Amino acid sequence: MTTIQNQLPTQLQSVRARVAAACQAAGRAASEVTLLAVSKTIGPEVVTQAYDAGQTAFGENYIQEAVQKIIQLRHLPLEWHCIGPIQSNKTRLVAEHFDWVQTLDRLKIAQRLSEQRPAGRPPLQVCIQVNVDGGASKSGVSPSEALALAQSVAALPKLRLRGIMSIPEPTPDFVAACALFARVKAVFDALNAEGLALDTLSMGMSADMEAAIQSGSTMVRVGTAIFGGRPPIKSGIAH
Ligand SMILES: *Cc1c(COP(=O)(O)O)cnc(C)c1O
Repeated sequence: MTTIQNQLPTQLQSVRARVAAACQAAGRAASEVTLLAVSKTIGPEVVTQAYDAGQTAFGENYIQEAVQKIIQLRHLPLEWHCIGPIQSNKTRLVAEHFDWVQTLDRLKIAQRLSEQRPAGRPPLQVCIQVNVDGGASKSGVSPSEALALAQSVAALPKLRLRGIMSIPEPTPDFVAACALFARVKAVFDALNAEGLALDTLSMGMSADMEAAIQSGSTMVRVGTAIFGGRPPIKSGIAH
């Protein structure tokens, strides 16, 4: 139908090849890195095409847009990750519809998500968002706050703490990007040294997945390189 749909399987394949090449360069197995397809602003038809091309994990930023899509695509065995900021008044929607939340940075939100997770559903899989560079989005806890929040979150009954997520300021310089990602990896290692048994280090996007994988990422969140450019963000919607 549209160009983006025809190119999608090829673009997905080339992103998988980039992930595999980055793993090889880092001396890691390709199976160590999960590809999360970031489908914000992308319609359910195109998400279905990505599923047909073998993609099952999808990331969404805008809760209401996401929930509509999740409901429309209920017939497919997809895994949905919330990777956008969560206001208190949206926690119920998130708890009821998503499988993962990667953006926890307040205990209050974590408590609400745990309380509102429907009884019949498995625990919500969660990551603490860590901000290592005071970067553009003010979201995320500082490295020094990460342990206390992680320990509190790990104690909540309907959440399962899986790891940490970070969105460092993009930099075109590979070495500089690796230095920032290494700070995130250091937080990840420090929490594991405290006995938290985390298995997910979510970092790296279209422009910097190679540096992230070199630095130990286990999940890259990729939008543009799979789906092409997105329309500009509507004003009033927090990025
Ligand atoms: C949009 C977004 C991505 C994907 O970014 P691309 O540059 O399009 O790959 C990844 N993570 C988060 C949190 C995002 O908001």
